[in-house]
Amino acid sequence: MWEHYESLFLRSFGDYGRYLWNDITHPSWHSYFYGLILVSALVYALELAFPWRKDQPRIRKDFWLDGFYMFFNMFLFWLVAYNAVSNVVVDAFSSLRNSAGLDSLEWIDVATLPIALQLALMFVLRDFIQYWIHRLLHRVPRLWDFHKVHHSVEQMGFAAQLRYHWMETIVYRSIQYIPLAMFGFGIQEFFAIDMIALTIGHVNHANFRPPIGPLRYVLNSPQMHIWHHAKEMPVRYGANYGLSLSVWDWIFGTVYWPTSGRDTPLGFEHVERYPDHFVTQMIFPFEDQDRTPPGTSRVS
Ligand SMILES: [Zn+2]
Ligand SMILES: [Zn+2]
Repeated sequence: MWEHYESLFLRSFGDYGRYLWNDITHPSWHSYFYGLILVSALVYALELAFPWRKDQPRIRKDFWLDGFYMFFNMFLFWLVAYNAVSNVVVDAFSSLRNSAGLDSLEWIDVATLPIALQLALMFVLRDFIQYWIHRLLHRVPRLWDFHKVHHSVEQMGFAAQLRYHWMETIVYRSIQYIPLAMFGFGIQEFFAIDMIALTIGHVNHANFRPPIGPLRYVLNSPQMHIWHHAKEMPVRYGANYGLSLSVWDWIFGTVYWPTSGRDTPLGFEHVERYPDHFVTQMIFPFEDQDRTPPGTSRVS
C-alpha cells in the first residue's frame, strides 16, 4: 500500500513539473502562467495610470517580494510539495469512500447543468466557503500566525493579493474539498473563474480606485478591502473578510467601512518588527509567540 502512495507522490511531482514546463513553453489561452502575467500587467497599468495614493512609489515597498510570492504561491509551492500531497490525500479519501460503500458524496450532480451555470455556481459557492475560512484565519490564534504574513503588507499594490504563507493554501484547499465535492466539484481547475477571481483579487489590493457605485454591495473593492488591512481596527478579529464578493460581509454584518481608507496605516501592532524577507516570513509563524488577533488590543 505504501508503495502505491509513494509512486503516486513521485508521479504527481513529475506530472506537475511537466505540466508547468508545458504551460511556460506552449503559451495558450488556458495558461495559468501567462494568465498571471497578463492580469498583473493590466492591473499594474491601471495603478500607474490612475493611482489612488498619488505619492506611493511606483515600485512600492515589497513590490519585488510580493512579486515573488505570486509565483511561489501559484506555481513553485505546487512544484515543491502540495500537488503531490494533494493527489495522495484525494486518492486516499476516495478509496476510503469506496470501501465505506459510498460511491459519492454528491448531493447534486452539477455536471448535468449548463456550463455557464456550473461556473457561476462554483464561483459563488467557493467564494462563500472562502469567506468563512478567512474568518477562521482571523479567529483562531494558531491560524492568525500564518495569516499575518498577508497582513504584514504596509503599502498596497496588486501583488499583495498573493502575499501569503503556503500554510494558507493547505488550510483553504482542505477545508473547501468536502463542501465542493458535495456539489460534484472535484479538484479540477476552472480556468475562467480562477482568472476572474485572480483579477478581482489583484484589483482589491491595487493602488487604484474603481468607480464601483452600488456594486459595492456585491463586489469587494480596494476601497473596502483596504479597511481589512487597516492597522487601527476597532472591531474584534477584524472585518471585511470577503474575497471576490462583498455580499457575505453585508449579509453577516462584518462590514467596517468608516470613511475613505486611502491613507489609513496598514498592518498590525508592531508590524515594523515583523520579518521582511521571504524565508524569515515562512519560518516566523512557527515560532511567533505574539498571537494577538487584529483588533483585540485596540478595543477601547
Ligand atoms: Zn485577513
Ligand atoms: Zn488582502
